[in-house]
Amino acid sequence: MSGETLIEVRGLEVRFPIVKKGLLRNETTELRAVDGVSFDIRRGETVGLVGESGSGKTTIGRAILRAIDPTAGQVIYHGDEGDVDVAHLEGDELRKFRRHMQMVFKEGPVELSSLAGEALRLFRPRMSLVFQDPYSSLNPRMTVRDIIAEPLIAGGVMRDRAAIDARVREIAARCKLNLEHLRRFPHAFSGGQRQRICIARALAARPDFVVCDESVSALDVSIQAEIVNLLKDLQAEMGVSFLFIAHDLSVVAQISHRVGVLYVGKFVEYAPTDALFFNPRHPYTHALLSAAPQADPDAEFDPIRLEGEIPNPLAAPPGCRFHTRCPHARPRCALEEPEWREVAPQHHVACHYAEDFDFTRPRRAPQGRPA
Ligand code: SF4
Repeated sequence: MSGETLIEVRGLEVRFPIVKKGLLRNETTELRAVDGVSFDIRRGETVGLVGESGSGKTTIGRAILRAIDPTAGQVIYHGDEGDVDVAHLEGDELRKFRRHMQMVFKEGPVELSSLAGEALRLFRPRMSLVFQDPYSSLNPRMTVRDIIAEPLIAGGVMRDRAAIDARVREIAARCKLNLEHLRRFPHAFSGGQRQRICIARALAARPDFVVCDESVSALDVSIQAEIVNLLKDLQAEMGVSFLFIAHDLSVVAQISHRVGVLYVGKFVEYAPTDALFFNPRHPYTHALLSAAPQADPDAEFDPIRLEGEIPNPLAAPPGCRFHTRCPHARPRCALEEPEWREVAPQHHVACHYAEDFDFTRPRRAPQGRPA
Protein backbone atom coordinates (compact mmCIF):
# COMPACT_ATOMS: atom_id res chain seq x y z
CA MET A 1 0.00 0.00 0.00
CA SER A 2 1.53 3.33 -1.08
CA GLY A 3 -0.19 5.73 1.35
CA GLU A 4 -1.22 7.88 -1.62
CA THR A 5 -4.95 8.71 -1.74
CA LEU A 6 -6.80 7.28 -4.77
CA ILE A 7 -10.47 8.02 -3.98
CA GLU A 8 -11.59 10.87 -1.78
CA VAL A 9 -15.25 10.96 -0.74
CA ARG A 10 -16.32 14.25 0.83
CA GLY A 11 -19.77 14.92 2.32
CA LEU A 12 -21.45 12.39 0.01
CA GLU A 13 -25.24 12.51 0.13
CA VAL A 14 -27.69 10.37 -1.82
CA ARG A 15 -31.38 11.13 -1.42
CA PHE A 16 -34.25 9.45 -3.23
CA PRO A 17 -37.61 11.21 -3.62
CA ILE A 18 -40.51 9.10 -2.34
CA VAL A 19 -44.02 10.00 -3.47
CA LYS A 20 -46.84 9.17 -1.05
CA LYS A 21 -50.27 9.12 -2.69
CA GLY A 22 -52.87 11.16 -0.79
CA LEU A 23 -56.62 11.58 -1.23
CA LEU A 24 -56.36 15.16 -2.49
CA ARG A 25 -52.75 15.50 -3.42
CA ASN A 26 -49.53 13.51 -3.43
CA GLU A 27 -46.81 14.23 -0.90
CA THR A 28 -43.12 13.97 -1.75
CA THR A 29 -40.61 13.12 0.94
CA GLU A 30 -36.93 12.31 0.76
CA LEU A 31 -35.24 9.10 1.71
CA ARG A 32 -31.71 9.95 2.87
CA ALA A 33 -29.93 6.75 1.88
CA VAL A 34 -26.48 8.27 2.45
CA ASP A 35 -26.20 11.34 4.63
CA GLY A 36 -22.90 13.21 4.54
CA VAL A 37 -20.30 10.45 4.41
CA SER A 38 -16.58 11.29 4.12
CA PHE A 39 -13.63 8.91 3.82
CA ASP A 40 -10.74 8.11 1.54
CA ILE A 41 -9.21 5.02 -0.02
CA ARG A 42 -5.47 4.77 -0.63
CA ARG A 43 -3.73 3.08 -3.53
CA GLY A 44 -3.46 -0.65 -2.87
CA GLU A 45 -5.74 -0.43 0.15
CA THR A 46 -8.95 -2.30 1.01
CA VAL A 47 -11.58 -0.32 2.87
CA GLY A 48 -14.42 -2.41 4.28
CA LEU A 49 -17.95 -1.11 4.78
CA VAL A 50 -20.29 -2.91 7.15
CA GLY A 51 -23.79 -2.29 8.43
CA GLU A 52 -27.25 -3.81 8.46
CA SER A 53 -29.51 -3.83 5.38
CA GLY A 54 -30.57 -0.29 4.50
CA SER A 55 -27.52 1.31 6.14
CA GLY A 56 -26.39 2.78 2.81
CA LYS A 57 -23.25 0.73 2.11
CA THR A 58 -24.25 -0.46 -1.38
CA THR A 59 -25.53 3.03 -2.27
CA ILE A 60 -22.11 4.50 -1.39
CA GLY A 61 -20.36 1.99 -3.70
CA ARG A 62 -22.74 2.75 -6.54
CA ALA A 63 -22.55 6.51 -6.07
CA ILE A 64 -18.74 6.34 -6.31
CA LEU A 65 -19.15 4.48 -9.62
CA ARG A 66 -21.88 6.96 -10.73
CA ALA A 67 -24.44 4.20 -11.20
CA ILE A 68 -26.50 6.41 -8.86
CA ASP A 69 -26.29 10.20 -8.95
CA PRO A 70 -25.08 11.72 -5.67
CA THR A 71 -27.32 14.52 -4.40
CA ALA A 72 -24.41 16.41 -2.85
CA GLY A 73 -20.73 16.00 -2.03
CA GLN A 74 -17.65 15.08 -3.98
CA VAL A 75 -15.99 11.88 -5.16
CA ILE A 76 -12.49 12.79 -6.28
CA TYR A 77 -10.58 10.19 -8.26
CA HIS A 78 -6.84 10.96 -8.06
CA GLY A 79 -5.83 9.29 -11.31
CA ASP A 80 -2.38 9.13 -12.88
CA GLU A 81 -3.34 11.89 -15.31
CA GLY A 82 -4.97 14.27 -12.85
CA ASP A 83 -7.93 14.54 -10.50
CA VAL A 84 -11.52 13.98 -11.63
CA ASP A 85 -14.56 14.75 -9.47
CA VAL A 86 -16.74 11.81 -10.48
CA ALA A 87 -19.69 13.23 -8.51
CA HIS A 88 -19.77 16.33 -10.71
CA LEU A 89 -19.21 14.89 -14.19
CA GLU A 90 -21.76 16.32 -16.60
CA GLY A 91 -22.77 16.26 -20.25
CA ASP A 92 -20.48 14.38 -22.62
CA GLU A 93 -18.00 13.42 -19.95
CA LEU A 94 -20.73 11.85 -17.81
CA ARG A 95 -22.19 10.07 -20.85
CA LYS A 96 -18.80 8.60 -21.71
CA PHE A 97 -18.17 7.54 -18.13
CA ARG A 98 -21.64 5.96 -18.02
CA ARG A 99 -21.05 4.14 -21.28
CA HIS A 100 -18.19 2.36 -19.60
CA MET A 101 -20.15 1.78 -16.39
CA GLN A 102 -23.18 0.49 -18.34
CA MET A 103 -20.96 -2.29 -19.49
CA VAL A 104 -19.96 -2.97 -15.89
CA PHE A 105 -23.55 -2.82 -14.61
CA LYS A 106 -25.17 -4.57 -17.57
CA GLU A 107 -27.90 -1.96 -17.72
CA GLY A 108 -28.03 -1.50 -21.43
CA PRO A 109 -26.47 -2.26 -24.78
CA VAL A 110 -22.77 -1.64 -25.08
CA GLU A 111 -21.59 0.28 -28.08
CA LEU A 112 -18.01 -0.58 -28.86
CA SER A 113 -16.15 2.43 -27.74
CA SER A 114 -15.59 5.39 -29.98
CA LEU A 115 -13.80 7.20 -27.18
CA ALA A 116 -10.66 8.98 -28.21
CA GLY A 117 -8.19 11.57 -27.04
CA GLU A 118 -8.99 13.38 -23.81
CA ALA A 119 -12.19 11.41 -23.12
CA LEU A 120 -10.38 8.11 -23.50
CA ARG A 121 -7.59 9.35 -21.24
CA LEU A 122 -10.06 10.29 -18.52
CA PHE A 123 -12.43 7.36 -18.72
CA ARG A 124 -10.31 4.40 -19.59
CA PRO A 125 -11.84 1.72 -17.38
CA ARG A 126 -10.17 2.56 -14.10
CA MET A 127 -13.07 1.52 -11.90
CA SER A 128 -14.95 -1.74 -11.82
CA LEU A 129 -17.36 -3.87 -9.81
CA VAL A 130 -17.73 -7.46 -8.60
CA PHE A 131 -21.35 -8.36 -7.88
CA GLN A 132 -22.81 -10.45 -5.09
CA ASP A 133 -24.45 -13.10 -7.24
CA PRO A 134 -21.98 -15.00 -9.42
CA TYR A 135 -24.89 -16.83 -11.09
CA SER A 136 -26.88 -13.93 -12.53
CA SER A 137 -23.96 -11.59 -13.24
CA LEU A 138 -22.46 -13.70 -16.06
CA ASN A 139 -24.03 -13.88 -19.51
CA PRO A 140 -24.91 -17.58 -20.01
CA ARG A 141 -24.46 -17.26 -23.79
CA MET A 142 -20.89 -15.99 -23.67
CA THR A 143 -17.77 -18.11 -23.24
CA VAL A 144 -15.52 -17.34 -20.30
CA ARG A 145 -12.94 -15.96 -22.74
CA ASP A 146 -15.46 -13.47 -24.16
CA ILE A 147 -16.73 -12.49 -20.69
CA ILE A 148 -13.21 -11.64 -19.48
CA ALA A 149 -12.36 -9.88 -22.78
CA GLU A 150 -15.52 -7.74 -22.71
CA PRO A 151 -14.19 -4.79 -20.64
CA LEU A 152 -11.01 -4.67 -22.73
CA ILE A 153 -13.01 -4.33 -25.97
CA ALA A 154 -15.94 -2.23 -24.73
CA GLY A 155 -13.66 0.11 -22.81
CA GLY A 156 -11.42 0.57 -25.84
CA VAL A 157 -8.41 -0.64 -23.86
CA MET A 158 -7.21 -3.11 -26.52
CA ARG A 159 -8.22 -3.74 -30.11
CA ASP A 160 -5.74 -6.35 -31.28
CA ARG A 161 -7.15 -9.89 -30.89
CA ALA A 162 -3.81 -11.49 -30.08
CA ALA A 163 -3.13 -8.89 -27.37
CA ILE A 164 -6.64 -9.37 -25.93
CA ASP A 165 -6.18 -13.16 -25.84
CA ALA A 166 -2.81 -12.79 -24.12
CA ARG A 167 -4.32 -10.48 -21.51
CA VAL A 168 -7.32 -12.81 -20.95
CA ARG A 169 -4.97 -15.79 -20.45
CA GLU A 170 -2.80 -13.79 -18.05
CA ILE A 171 -5.65 -12.58 -15.80
CA ALA A 172 -7.37 -16.00 -15.97
CA ALA A 173 -4.19 -17.68 -14.74
CA ARG A 174 -3.90 -15.16 -11.91
CA CYS A 175 -7.49 -15.97 -10.94
CA LYS A 176 -6.62 -19.70 -11.01
CA LEU A 177 -8.67 -20.48 -14.13
CA ASN A 178 -6.99 -22.68 -16.75
CA LEU A 179 -6.99 -22.49 -20.55
CA GLU A 180 -9.63 -25.20 -20.84
CA HIS A 181 -12.01 -23.05 -18.71
CA LEU A 182 -11.85 -20.20 -21.23
CA ARG A 183 -13.72 -22.21 -23.88
CA ARG A 184 -16.62 -23.13 -21.59
CA PHE A 185 -19.85 -21.35 -20.70
CA PRO A 186 -20.71 -20.15 -17.15
CA HIS A 187 -23.21 -22.96 -16.43
CA ALA A 188 -20.31 -25.43 -16.31
CA PHE A 189 -18.84 -23.81 -13.17
CA SER A 190 -19.48 -23.86 -9.42
CA GLY A 191 -20.29 -20.68 -7.43
CA GLY A 192 -16.67 -20.18 -6.37
CA GLN A 193 -15.34 -20.66 -9.93
CA ARG A 194 -17.96 -18.25 -11.28
CA GLN A 195 -16.85 -15.63 -8.76
CA ARG A 196 -13.26 -16.13 -10.02
CA ILE A 197 -14.56 -15.41 -13.54
CA CYS A 198 -16.30 -12.24 -12.25
CA ILE A 199 -13.07 -11.13 -10.57
CA ALA A 200 -11.05 -11.83 -13.72
CA ARG A 201 -13.54 -9.74 -15.73
CA ALA A 202 -13.39 -6.90 -13.20
CA LEU A 203 -9.58 -6.85 -13.19
CA ALA A 204 -8.95 -7.50 -16.91
CA ALA A 205 -8.58 -3.82 -17.80
CA ARG A 206 -6.21 -3.28 -14.83
CA PRO A 207 -8.51 -0.92 -12.93
CA ASP A 208 -7.16 1.12 -10.04
CA PHE A 209 -10.31 0.62 -8.01
CA VAL A 210 -12.88 -2.17 -7.67
CA VAL A 211 -16.08 -2.20 -5.62
CA CYS A 212 -16.76 -5.71 -4.25
CA ASP A 213 -20.44 -5.53 -3.33
CA GLU A 214 -21.29 -8.47 -1.05
CA SER A 215 -19.05 -10.47 -3.40
CA VAL A 216 -18.57 -13.44 -1.08
CA SER A 217 -21.89 -13.34 0.77
CA ALA A 218 -23.58 -15.93 -1.46
CA LEU A 219 -20.73 -18.44 -1.13
CA ASP A 220 -20.01 -21.24 1.37
CA VAL A 221 -17.59 -20.34 4.18
CA SER A 222 -14.65 -22.34 2.72
CA ILE A 223 -15.17 -20.77 -0.73
CA GLN A 224 -15.47 -17.32 0.89
CA ALA A 225 -11.98 -17.78 2.39
CA GLU A 226 -10.62 -18.88 -1.02
CA ILE A 227 -12.04 -15.78 -2.76
CA VAL A 228 -10.85 -13.43 0.01
CA ASN A 229 -7.33 -14.90 -0.30
CA LEU A 230 -7.48 -14.53 -4.08
CA LEU A 231 -8.45 -10.85 -3.78
CA LYS A 232 -5.58 -10.26 -1.34
CA ASP A 233 -3.07 -11.97 -3.68
CA LEU A 234 -4.32 -9.94 -6.66
CA GLN A 235 -4.04 -6.74 -4.65
CA ALA A 236 -0.44 -7.57 -3.68
CA GLU A 237 0.42 -8.30 -7.33
CA MET A 238 -1.49 -5.49 -9.04
CA GLY A 239 -1.77 -2.73 -6.42
CA VAL A 240 -5.54 -2.40 -6.97
CA SER A 241 -7.70 -0.73 -4.28
CA PHE A 242 -10.93 -2.38 -3.10
CA LEU A 243 -14.07 -1.09 -1.46
CA PHE A 244 -15.29 -4.30 0.18
CA ILE A 245 -18.96 -4.16 1.16
CA ALA A 246 -20.41 -6.88 3.39
CA HIS A 247 -22.69 -7.38 6.34
CA ASP A 248 -20.36 -9.92 8.01
CA LEU A 249 -17.76 -8.09 10.06
CA SER A 250 -15.53 -11.15 10.44
CA VAL A 251 -15.18 -11.48 6.63
CA VAL A 252 -14.55 -7.73 6.24
CA ALA A 253 -11.86 -7.90 8.92
CA GLN A 254 -9.97 -10.60 7.02
CA ILE A 255 -9.40 -8.44 3.97
CA SER A 256 -9.64 -4.78 5.02
CA HIS A 257 -6.94 -2.36 6.11
CA ARG A 258 -9.57 0.05 7.43
CA VAL A 259 -13.25 -0.46 8.19
CA GLY A 260 -16.22 1.90 8.27
CA VAL A 261 -19.38 1.00 10.20
CA LEU A 262 -22.61 2.50 8.86
CA TYR A 263 -25.92 3.04 10.60
CA VAL A 264 -28.94 4.52 8.76
CA GLY A 265 -26.87 6.32 6.11
CA LYS A 266 -24.07 7.67 8.33
CA PHE A 267 -20.72 6.46 9.57
CA VAL A 268 -20.70 5.73 13.29
CA GLU A 269 -17.08 4.55 13.34
CA TYR A 270 -14.15 4.42 10.91
CA ALA A 271 -10.77 3.06 11.95
CA PRO A 272 -7.84 0.79 11.04
CA THR A 273 -9.07 -2.80 11.23
CA ASP A 274 -7.07 -3.75 14.33
CA ALA A 275 -8.27 -0.69 16.26
CA LEU A 276 -11.88 -1.27 15.26
CA PHE A 277 -11.77 -4.97 15.97
CA PHE A 278 -9.98 -4.98 19.32
CA ASN A 279 -10.81 -1.55 20.68
CA PRO A 280 -14.17 -0.45 19.24
CA ARG A 281 -15.43 2.89 20.58
CA HIS A 282 -19.03 2.91 19.40
CA PRO A 283 -21.76 0.82 21.10
CA TYR A 284 -23.15 -0.24 17.70
CA THR A 285 -19.75 -1.57 16.52
CA HIS A 286 -19.38 -3.33 19.87
CA ALA A 287 -22.78 -5.01 19.38
CA LEU A 288 -21.96 -6.07 15.79
CA LEU A 289 -18.62 -7.53 16.90
CA SER A 290 -20.20 -9.43 19.76
CA ALA A 291 -22.46 -11.19 17.25
CA ALA A 292 -19.79 -11.91 14.60
CA PRO A 293 -18.90 -15.59 14.12
CA GLN A 294 -15.45 -16.53 15.42
CA ALA A 295 -13.04 -19.17 14.18
CA ASP A 296 -11.74 -19.95 17.68
CA PRO A 297 -14.09 -22.45 19.42
CA ASP A 298 -12.77 -21.32 22.86
CA ALA A 299 -13.56 -17.66 22.21
CA GLU A 300 -16.29 -16.17 24.37
CA PHE A 301 -19.54 -15.79 22.42
CA ASP A 302 -22.05 -13.55 24.15
CA PRO A 303 -23.91 -11.58 21.48
CA ILE A 304 -25.51 -8.29 22.52
CA ARG A 305 -29.17 -8.28 21.51
CA LEU A 306 -30.18 -4.85 20.27
CA GLU A 307 -33.81 -4.08 21.04
CA GLY A 308 -36.03 -2.78 18.26
CA GLU A 309 -35.65 -2.47 14.52
CA ILE A 310 -33.21 -0.42 12.48
CA PRO A 311 -35.04 2.94 11.97
CA ASN A 312 -36.66 3.82 8.67
CA PRO A 313 -34.32 6.25 6.83
CA LEU A 314 -37.47 8.22 5.87
CA ALA A 315 -37.86 9.13 9.53
CA ALA A 316 -34.41 8.85 11.09
CA PRO A 317 -34.54 9.56 14.84
CA PRO A 318 -33.31 12.99 16.01
CA GLY A 319 -30.06 13.33 17.95
CA CYS A 320 -27.95 10.18 17.74
CA ARG A 321 -29.65 7.88 15.22
CA PHE A 322 -28.69 4.89 17.32
CA HIS A 323 -30.29 6.18 20.54
CA THR A 324 -33.51 4.16 20.04
CA ARG A 325 -31.50 0.90 20.30
CA CYS A 326 -28.37 1.89 22.20
CA PRO A 327 -27.97 0.08 25.55
CA HIS A 328 -25.91 3.08 26.82
CA ALA A 329 -28.18 5.95 25.68
CA ARG A 330 -28.59 8.96 27.98
CA PRO A 331 -31.05 11.89 27.68
CA ARG A 332 -28.62 14.05 25.66
CA CYS A 333 -28.43 11.33 22.97
CA ALA A 334 -32.04 11.92 21.84
CA LEU A 335 -31.51 15.68 21.53
CA GLU A 336 -28.06 16.28 20.15
CA GLU A 337 -26.39 14.69 17.14
CA PRO A 338 -22.91 13.44 18.10
CA GLU A 339 -19.96 15.12 16.43
CA TRP A 340 -17.81 13.03 14.08
CA ARG A 341 -14.44 13.21 15.80
CA GLU A 342 -11.01 11.57 15.94
CA VAL A 343 -10.60 9.81 19.29
CA ALA A 344 -7.25 8.16 18.46
CA PRO A 345 -4.96 8.40 15.42
CA GLN A 346 -7.10 7.60 12.33
CA HIS A 347 -9.89 6.38 14.62
CA HIS A 348 -13.10 8.37 14.09
CA VAL A 349 -16.34 7.88 15.96
CA ALA A 350 -19.74 9.56 16.35
CA CYS A 351 -20.75 9.08 20.00
CA HIS A 352 -20.99 11.66 22.80
CA TYR A 353 -19.62 9.21 25.35
CA ALA A 354 -17.02 7.19 23.40
CA GLU A 355 -14.34 7.89 26.05
CA ASP A 356 -16.55 6.48 28.82
CA PHE A 357 -16.72 2.97 27.37
CA ASP A 358 -14.17 0.19 27.51
CA PHE A 359 -15.10 -2.29 24.82
CA THR A 360 -11.57 -3.71 24.52
CA ARG A 361 -11.66 -7.27 23.19
CA PRO A 362 -9.08 -10.07 23.67
CA ARG A 363 -6.60 -10.25 20.82
CA ARG A 364 -7.87 -13.31 19.00
CA ALA A 365 -7.42 -12.17 15.44
CA PRO A 366 -9.45 -13.48 12.56
CA GLN A 367 -7.00 -15.39 10.39
CA GLY A 368 -5.04 -13.67 7.66
CA ARG A 369 -5.83 -10.01 8.25
CA PRO A 370 -3.71 -7.65 6.17
CA ALA A 371 -0.86 -5.77 7.91
FE1 SF4 B 1 -25.37 5.52 22.39
FE2 SF4 B 1 -25.60 8.08 23.04
FE3 SF4 B 1 -23.31 7.18 22.02
FE4 SF4 B 1 -25.47 7.38 20.47
S1 SF4 B 1 -24.36 9.05 21.45
S2 SF4 B 1 -24.07 5.67 20.57
S3 SF4 B 1 -27.08 6.83 21.91
S4 SF4 B 1 -24.24 6.60 23.98
